[in-house]
Amino acid sequence: MPDLDIDARGYLIDLDGTLISGQTVLQDARWLLNAVAGRFVLVSNNAEHTPAQLSRMLQTIGLAVDADSIILAGTSAIDRIAAEQPGASLLLLASPALRSYARRKGFYLDAARPDVVLVARDRQFSYAKLAAAVSALADGARLVVAAPDLSHPGADGRPVPETGALAAAIIACAGTRDYTVIGKPERALFEMGCRRLGIDFSDAVMIGDNPQTDGLGARRLGMRFWQVHDGSIRHTPQLAVV
Ligand SMILES: [Mg+2]
Repeated sequence: MPDLDIDARGYLIDLDGTLISGQTVLQDARWLLNAVAGRFVLVSNNAEHTPAQLSRMLQTIGLAVDADSIILAGTSAIDRIAAEQPGASLLLLASPALRSYARRKGFYLDAARPDVVLVARDRQFSYAKLAAAVSALADGARLVVAAPDLSHPGADGRPVPETGALAAAIIACAGTRDYTVIGKPERALFEMGCRRLGIDFSDAVMIGDNPQTDGLGARRLGMRFWQVHDGSIRHTPQLAVV
């Protein structure tokens, strides 16, 4: 059991590389979720699944986390656009689950001239979709990128493409620098996490494995950051210092 003071008002906890790796539950995950029960939300750059799907998946590997306590970049991007541009039409490059989620939020996904292009983790990404996205941007659509990650390491150590790599193709072709990123290290997910816990940034600790996203985003907002190494928070001698 890690020797940590778990006395903050709230915890934002990353998922991949922090609690799980693929289908494997990492070393301190159960201890941590138990120690911060009722005071945490998961905050992940996942741009493919819904909170309900992830909650079910976590259940199958023995981690009980309510969907209401899971904040994901893909669905949060849809929520954010729904709040900022209600009634907008969307060109959504995303998984079937996210497309269903967007329709349930009232978005029309097949407009000839969409108001917003939202890029999430679309495993069916193609030349035709790239062309459609770039064309919509040329017609004045706003570009939103669910998560900036270019890749994550697969089980064999090789890079697996992520949302950021798809967005990079669109950005390169459109030649734009004008776009909104929802995922960490940008502030949106941190904001949503703290709002859901009813706390300020200064009352929260971000726990994650990635200093470039979890750590940088937390530090920018004045949040504490605890880094996870190899699935363990006990091997971090300089906790709360990073
Ligand atoms: Mg991570």
